[in-house]
Amino acid sequence: MKQGLMAAMLFACFALTGCGTDSAGKSADHRLQVTATTSQVANAAENIGGKHVKVTSLMGPGVDPHLYKASQGDTKKLMSADVVLYSGLHLEGKMEDVLQKVGEQKQTAAVAEAIPKSKLISAGEGKTFDPHVWFSIPLWIYAVDEIEAQFSKAMPEHADDFKKNAKEYKEDLQYLDKWSRQEIAHIPEKSRVLVTAHDAFAYFGKEYGFQVEGLQGLSTDSDYGLKDVQELVDLLTEKQIKAVFVESSVSEKSINAVVEGAKEKGHTVTIGGQLYSDAMGEKGTKEGTYEGMFRHNINTITKALK
Ligand SMILES: [Zn+2]
Repeated sequence: MKQGLMAAMLFACFALTGCGTDSAGKSADHRLQVTATTSQVANAAENIGGKHVKVTSLMGPGVDPHLYKASQGDTKKLMSADVVLYSGLHLEGKMEDVLQKVGEQKQTAAVAEAIPKSKLISAGEGKTFDPHVWFSIPLWIYAVDEIEAQFSKAMPEHADDFKKNAKEYKEDLQYLDKWSRQEIAHIPEKSRVLVTAHDAFAYFGKEYGFQVEGLQGLSTDSDYGLKDVQELVDLLTEKQIKAVFVESSVSEKSINAVVEGAKEKGHTVTIGGQLYSDAMGEKGTKEGTYEGMFRHNINTITKALK
């Protein structure tokens, strides 16, 4: 039984190309080898690349991209790729040196930096831009187009396929955008206030009509100070907002202080659920895809605030 299973696994290994990690394995796999930093970028790349592309992502579920440092294994995955895709706008704050070095040697693109500057939200005086662009679907579509352009440059012989895949993926995203707006319409306008652990939802708020307050700044890096807990407690109490949200990649501790503070003022605030902010769910689950993650957030927000 056990041996049979082993044989089956071995067979599966030979049947698939690129199973080995040696150089021979690589040459047997004719797909474009793509390494992406975040799972949002990787998911878009998989959809656009289809059968011509093999995508490896560095950051898994629950990983905080602001603090993520490239391991030796990651550097290997970056150096062995044909194309490297990252989000950019300083999201991968601790990987900038590595990404710059990689960029000097191979085709590399910061896909969110394809969005026109005029559409980006400033990160504050003297700083650059808020990097959390994937929460506005219309903006994320610019990143999708950029990925298509990168793949077509690397494999011009398959440009038609990439174009077709990107078109289908964008149609899915546009449907998701429309559905999201319909769901949000169930929340009374005055209750559209989103209090979260860190400032990941400014684009979301701007696109879909929420006042957004994050307890921590734009990065989870400790250089950024905590916003006054009392300020948020006052806002929640004044507007009678029912719920605040925690994030999969950020500790709950900070947001609990807000819940406690409101309680002391006689206003009950619940934790409305966990939102995916900078990371997505487990691979193989619905939330492990961009669409599933977005849908989860919309459902969680709508249920808690309406
Ligand atoms: Zn973030």
